[in-house]
Amino acid sequence: MERFVRQTILPQIGGEGQRRLRQARVLVVGCGALGTHTAEALLRAGLGHLVLVDRDVVEGHNLHRVSLFTPKDVGWPKAEVAAEKLREIAPDSHIVSYAAHFSPELAEELVPQVDLVVDGLDNLETRYLVNDVCVKYEKPWIYTAVLATYGMIMPIVPQKGPCLRCLFPNPPAPGTIPTCAQAGILGPLPQVLAGIQAATAIGLVLESEEVRPGELFYLDVWSRKAQTVQVRRASRCPTCVARDFQFLREASRSAVLCGDAVQILPRTPTKLDLSALAQALAPLGKAEVRNGLLFLEIEGVSFTVFPDGRALLKGVSHPDRAQALYDQFIAR
Ligand SMILES: [Zn+2]
Repeated sequence: MERFVRQTILPQIGGEGQRRLRQARVLVVGCGALGTHTAEALLRAGLGHLVLVDRDVVEGHNLHRVSLFTPKDVGWPKAEVAAEKLREIAPDSHIVSYAAHFSPELAEELVPQVDLVVDGLDNLETRYLVNDVCVKYEKPWIYTAVLATYGMIMPIVPQKGPCLRCLFPNPPAPGTIPTCAQAGILGPLPQVLAGIQAATAIGLVLESEEVRPGELFYLDVWSRKAQTVQVRRASRCPTCVARDFQFLREASRSAVLCGDAVQILPRTPTKLDLSALAQALAPLGKAEVRNGLLFLEIEGVSFTVFPDGRALLKGVSHPDRAQALYDQFIAR
């Protein structure tokens, strides 16, 4: 407990709070800047059990905002790199990582096993899925989003306050919301919001009355302007009132990710022989298996193919075109 002595003297935490943090299980969905900084802050504060999920690999343009990643991590799965480094920071905590797409199946498997879900995502689509699964199993979660120089955060406690769909009833049409690839992101911004997210997570674990469900906090770190708004439950919310979990039922096979990549999922879960695929595709372009992943360059498009059949495509602007290329080259 010596490690936490500066924290246990806080009246808000105390020895009992520290013990509850040790028992708590938190799922972090997304291991970019927001997710990894939140995870690190929670582990340093004494969180006992952490689950990390991310489908992506570390890229050079992540390094300006993610403290855990260094240039030698480029090309490796984010969830695994993060888990390895976090184990060094918190050797007494139990850390599990999934280098996988947060699918409805994985959501239904992981969420019932944890006490709280925190947001490390870069797209609203997956947040609707997180919202569905958390409302279904009555698990609190924290919505946190960052873009350009501002961010917002809202604790969601099913039945005790609004859910994400009470705030944003319908997913925006693809392409109508700027991504961080288009709008950019100020390097220190995610750390600030991750710090607030981690403090909110501790408050939720300790059931502090000062964490108010549905209180939306907005902060611009450039102008240092902040605002707090209380969001109300929507009387006809399809998720938390009607309990229609649309996003758990429907999984789209393609998704445009922040960072200008399009992800394509296989039609059925599969186990690809990446070396055989590399050999077959070598005459068409560049094909190389590295770090357990297949990297391809065909017709000006770069593919990163995972052993489970999932692929990230770059250099292609439309999801339909990405789907067609995937069907042509990866899954026959
Ligand atoms: Zn709702």
